[in-house]
Amino acid sequence: MTDKYDVIVIGAGPAGYVAAIRAAQLGLKTACVEKWINKQDKPALGGTCLNVGCIPSKALLESTELYDQAQHGFADLGINVGELSVDVPKMIARKDKIVSELTGGIEMLFKANKIDWLKGSGRVLANKQVSVTAADGSDTSYATDNVIIATGSVPVELGITPLQGDIVVDSSGALDWEAIPGKICVIGAGVIGLELGSVWRRLGSEVVLLEAMDEFLPMVDKQIARDAKRAFTKQGLDIQLSARVTGSEVNGDKVTVNYQDKNGDQSMVVDKLIVAVGRKALTEGLVADEVGIGIDERGVIHVNDHCETNVPGIYAVGDVVRGPMLAHKGSEEGVMVAERIAGENSSLNYDAMPNVIYTHPEVAWVGKTEEQLKADGVEYQAGTFPFAASGRAKAKGDTGGLVKIIRDKNTDRVLGAHLIGPAASELLGQSVLALEFDATIEDIAHTIHAHPTLSEAMHEAALSADGRAIHIANRKR
Ligand code: FAD
Ligand code: NAD
Repeated sequence: MTDKYDVIVIGAGPAGYVAAIRAAQLGLKTACVEKWINKQDKPALGGTCLNVGCIPSKALLESTELYDQAQHGFADLGINVGELSVDVPKMIARKDKIVSELTGGIEMLFKANKIDWLKGSGRVLANKQVSVTAADGSDTSYATDNVIIATGSVPVELGITPLQGDIVVDSSGALDWEAIPGKICVIGAGVIGLELGSVWRRLGSEVVLLEAMDEFLPMVDKQIARDAKRAFTKQGLDIQLSARVTGSEVNGDKVTVNYQDKNGDQSMVVDKLIVAVGRKALTEGLVADEVGIGIDERGVIHVNDHCETNVPGIYAVGDVVRGPMLAHKGSEEGVMVAERIAGENSSLNYDAMPNVIYTHPEVAWVGKTEEQLKADGVEYQAGTFPFAASGRAKAKGDTGGLVKIIRDKNTDRVLGAHLIGPAASELLGQSVLALEFDATIEDIAHTIHAHPTLSEAMHEAALSADGRAIHIANRKR
């Protein structure tokens, strides 16, 4: 047994490493247990997000987006590029370099903040003990006043389509192909399916997405989801709804995918199959029974709004608890918990949670959709502005999409914002701030926006809620 810690965090993804850093900043003696072994067979911090999630996927999306622009967009801007070629191994190596720089950066931050990295697999025992099983099988127990569980999530596997080598893969496998597959099937037209499907489509693969539901992106504002589907289809993503996969079979270097759609049993032969049907909380074997924390049948740890479990001194944050599986959601929960352990009265405004799909065009939203407000019986008004009327979007040659902002009809308070178009992920920031500050549409309408910027679209959308947008013909209200 070593010295007692104030806080032991289990898991060093964006929820856990941020919680550990914030706890250490507040003067708490902190350790973080992490077992990740990376592609280079080395222990690594950063979790799913940095190693096989947010960052590597965005690195490949960036490379392939530029490649796509060079192929299809540059000529319109007066740039002739001659014959283009792509070096996929170099793209993958660039992605890996970004990952190792960022995960190495977390290691440096741990050192700078005097956080002990306990390498191995952590388990919560009774009486606030945490055992760590190292790679050599040895066990060490540590005592602590507080435990923060941040063990994240893993891809859901479909028993009917078992992963196989680099042919039937989950999202991690689809980040590492060094040759461009001829035809790819993706099970699930969710966020991962669309982002990774876009990466390989832009590189030239034929991509078919089979989605079991009959609605495309049900969590997104209906008008935006419709526009997104149209844009993705135009890019060549073949999105098939009401298509439920029933099995797959690998034959040599091909895979046959069987599925059912409205016309009955179907099958297709492809070079690669990506299983992207969601992620599940990782809690199996994590907590000794006698600890008694509440975990549901899906492995999700029960917590209240402050991420406290039913056992005092044990907290859980990130993908392992309720709510959207998003890196920033986990990180902010980590900050809140560390601050509350240190005696501060921190809380989190879950109503102002940004969401982004990093396709082209990007889809981004915060707050309520029109459909949710209708269902809740809230009187609202929406203002919209198309990027086609934005001078900056025209100058960029990227005019697809729109900004929609929704207000409470009676109080003028901003209730939600929904964007599709250029830099939507960045533009979303000001509406998140609006929700966080409880701003009104008038506050946005009154704010001076630089010209020419894409952010003027948000300004004009706010003005249009009152029929006073300048650069479009306003609908009569
Ligand atoms: P994780 O990042 O999963 O980290 C958990 C850590 O705990 C892991 O390192 C794991 O090794 C460790 N661990 C687990 N059990 C133990 C144990 N017993 N002992 C020790 N260590 C343990 N989200 C976004 O917000 N934006 C995006 O753009 C985005 N893109 C994504 C792209 C892909 C391809 C994927 C797969 C996910 C993406 N996500 C994105 C989701 C995001 O990665 C997760 O929401 C986020 O990583 C959750 O953070 P976390 O810290 O809760 O868990
Ligand atoms: P998801 O829930 O977004 O999509 C999975 C899709 O698979 C769903 O639409 C579901 O209906 C479909 N599906 C399930 N079983 C099926 C079957 N048998 N046949 C056909 N379709 C089936 O999950 P995901 O795309 O795997 O992503 C996992 C998590 O990671 C998400 O919660 C997401 O929030 C997070 N993530 C976020 C980002 C981002 O923020 N940009 C990017 C990637 C992942």
